[in-house]
Amino acid sequence: MFINPYAGRLDIKPVKSNFHIHAGTGPGTCGAYEIEPVIEAYRDCGYGALCISNHNLLTDPAPYREKYGIALLQGYEYTTREHLLCLGSPAFTPIPQDVIFRPGRDGLEEGPFGPVHRKRNVENLQKAIDDCKSAGGYSIICHPDCHVWGVSRDVIDAVGGYDAIEILNGLNTSDTYDHILSKGLLKWCTGSDDFHRWWHLGVCWNMIYGEPTEAGILEAMRSGAMYVSKGLSLQRLELSDGRIHVKVMGGDGFEGDMEYKFIGKDGRVLKVTNDTEASYRIKGNEAYVRLDVTSPEGWKLITQPVYDDAFFTEK
Ligand SMILES: [Zn+2]
Ligand SMILES: [Zn+2]
Repeated sequence: MFINPYAGRLDIKPVKSNFHIHAGTGPGTCGAYEIEPVIEAYRDCGYGALCISNHNLLTDPAPYREKYGIALLQGYEYTTREHLLCLGSPAFTPIPQDVIFRPGRDGLEEGPFGPVHRKRNVENLQKAIDDCKSAGGYSIICHPDCHVWGVSRDVIDAVGGYDAIEILNGLNTSDTYDHILSKGLLKWCTGSDDFHRWWHLGVCWNMIYGEPTEAGILEAMRSGAMYVSKGLSLQRLELSDGRIHVKVMGGDGFEGDMEYKFIGKDGRVLKVTNDTEASYRIKGNEAYVRLDVTSPEGWKLITQPVYDDAFFTEK
């Protein structure tokens, strides 16, 4: 049976969010700016949920919650050769000394943006996923299979139990997402700014159909009630009479022709149509159907999959 993760959710006002932010200039931090002006800038851009996710440094957001009146998840970016966002819990997994991310150490290779560690430790990455999960958190594999520090596909294949992958983080890694889904692993997709500098702010974001609290955001993210946006807004995504009906508009309410691309197992393009809205009749052998929508100007929206419950072995 095909399941629509948006069913009963679209009446909720979605919360704009980014969970991948580097900020703070104190000891152990990796930001270029202090935390407060960064939170303030995001809030002023309409964001209602954030996470300060510094490399290997857990940030307690409690002092900022009341002041800024938005949901702030506790978290960090687990960082060795592999990067993983650990959100919504106080869990912190120490990094083994021999794979620690510290520019200038032996074993580092020069990447385009500075030294990058090449040594892998898949067991410790799995431990970080497990620690996060058992503490009630949510983990997201960062920038998979892209960038010089991207988490490679063979590492992704070797771990389990994570919740989502970043489908947009600078590059579009839809092909890796289809690879994961096509193996029968139901994972959700997110987008992030990977904020380090002001020019990263608002590159892409997640719209989450949940209560604007830490618990509400996590619950919605676990259900897949969210989409990734790079400027477009989801108006409708319904599953009825064996068809998926979808409508997307510009972020400013502009209604115009969009390219609706329906994508199924192994990344196969099932249908492409240019219109103000679109629908797709499910044949039954797709395993999943997800939407990639692009406006004439190049703005984008990526949905979670409508999925065949019987196909997925890990949910
Ligand atoms: Zn990273
Ligand atoms: Zn990062």
